[in-house]
Amino acid sequence: MRTRYAPSPTGEPHLGNIRTALYDYLLARRYGGQFILRIEDTDQQRYVEGGVEALFSALRWLGLDWDEGPDLDGPRGEHGPYIQSERLELYRTYADRLIAEDHAYYCYCSPERLDEMRKAQQARKEPPRYDGRCRNLTPEERDKSEASGVTPVVRFKTPLTGDTVAYDVLRGAVSFQNATLDDFVIMKSDGFPTYHLASVIDDHLMEISHVIRGDEWLPSAPKHFLIYQAFGWDPPLFAHASRILGPDKTKLSKRHGAHSVLEYREQGYLPDALVNFLALLGWGLDDHTEIMSREMLIENFDVDRLLPNPAMFNAEKLLWMNGMYIRQMPVEELAAAVRPWLEDAVGRVDEGLLLQIIPIVQERIRLLPDIVEIADFFFNDGP
Ligand code: GLU
Repeated sequence: MRTRYAPSPTGEPHLGNIRTALYDYLLARRYGGQFILRIEDTDQQRYVEGGVEALFSALRWLGLDWDEGPDLDGPRGEHGPYIQSERLELYRTYADRLIAEDHAYYCYCSPERLDEMRKAQQARKEPPRYDGRCRNLTPEERDKSEASGVTPVVRFKTPLTGDTVAYDVLRGAVSFQNATLDDFVIMKSDGFPTYHLASVIDDHLMEISHVIRGDEWLPSAPKHFLIYQAFGWDPPLFAHASRILGPDKTKLSKRHGAHSVLEYREQGYLPDALVNFLALLGWGLDDHTEIMSREMLIENFDVDRLLPNPAMFNAEKLLWMNGMYIRQMPVEELAAAVRPWLEDAVGRVDEGLLLQIIPIVQERIRLLPDIVEIADFFFNDGP
């Protein structure tokens, strides 16, 4: 069992994204396998400064430790590098192989031509797709295009007819008509691979056996299966987890009280509470168990109980759960957790006094900083 979390460093990780990291982590831990962290930074335009550090912090805060990843050496780094921008040579070699075996081709079409093509298709109310102009260039035409100085992209030669079947643990065989799939780009003109190519090559070379990812990637799955076929590789087992929606059934956003993972830390949520909450957003032990420790999650998690329908985010429930976790905390631990908030507000706090106060106020704390208002009375001597 080898699973992976393969985020793109495009900002602070949000709940949906980190939930798949949690699922991949739980699956690896359940079966004594490895959980691998890979940074997918091939889209240079979406790259955000500090994005990788934010990912590390979020995973560390939640205690989702990885067995292989960019910061690890020796046997824990043997499938590396784990940052895609450091693997460009490798992708190039594999793209060359696809070209040599007639599964891919150079495309010299200019952005202007592609733009015009797309507009014409729109006007005809056709779905946007590459029209295949460079698919069958004669050697002379190729030489002419080469001589023009255009840096080509590499496109995958998608079969023109028939279907591609992608397998998903939750949905079984999902069939896609090849005619709708397009000759998608696998290498860009900047020398970077696209997500599709890089993800397939890396999952294969890193020997990933199971991929749990968000269902927004389901439409990409047939492209991945086509690439696997072209290389003659076995794909991993995919499970596309259903999405998380707001209570009004629209895409989850700040409006619904959803924040980036690190914001929850700043607001005084406990990592164990957030882990518990996220695990149950799209997975369940049964129809009633709510409070589950990390150990219990690891013991019980499996892909067969991932829920097929979208999960509904409920900010109140997370707050309630956090309160439950706070109530279960040993006094010393809770004292240590609330101390920074308290000291920020009232200055240095005597340990003995704090340990006396905690049992009195513990029931009422839902977020760590609640301590300030609740216990203020004990630390201020009055006017
Ligand atoms: N880099 C993709 C993301 O940002 C990974 C998708 C996948 O897991 O294949 O979510």
